[in-house]
Amino acid sequence: MSSAQQRDHLICNARDCFQKIESVAWVTCCSHVFCAQHGQDIKLRQSVSSCCPACGTRLREEFGIMERSLRDSVHSRTFLLCGYSPEVVMEIASSAITFWTFQKQQMCVNLEQKVQYYKETVSKLKQDMALVKSDAEVKIHRLEQQLENTLVKDRALNETPRVRETRGEHYRQAEQHARKRKMDDFLL
Ligand SMILES: [Zn+2]
Ligand SMILES: [Zn+2]
Repeated sequence: MSSAQQRDHLICNARDCFQKIESVAWVTCCSHVFCAQHGQDIKLRQSVSSCCPACGTRLREEFGIMERSLRDSVHSRTFLLCGYSPEVVMEIASSAITFWTFQKQQMCVNLEQKVQYYKETVSKLKQDMALVKSDAEVKIHRLEQQLENTLVKDRALNETPRVRETRGEHYRQAEQHARKRKMDDFLL
């Protein structure tokens, strides 16, 4: 298959499908096209709900949606329009080109929607990340405060025995001085 043929393909117009259509296309009277799976689904539902899933156009029983083979032999394609007058051939060709152009526009719209969807997803992810970061910063700040409080209490607990010890030493020295004074007084 040449690069031009690879590029010139149709894409299923069903929402979230975006499947490449290579062999069988289901074409609607409103110029939308669907893959084999979605086309058969629409055909089966046609008696119940006869609306095009892409645009909501009412699909008539006859010619509302038709199956088209895209892999007809070159021979059958060559003779496809044989027998029609040039006016009819031109009309058919014009309709086919209009359909093709519309589908290419649909692909552009679909790609733009996808780009928009990814942009919104990225934007939402950034917002979520900012919220997570903000929450984490609040938690870190709270933990740092708890740690600081714990360290202050720990320092206070470690300092208390030393204070008591210092005070005890002070009393002992005072008592010794008092005893020494008494002894000095006695000796005098
Ligand atoms: Zn599909
Ligand atoms: Zn449609």
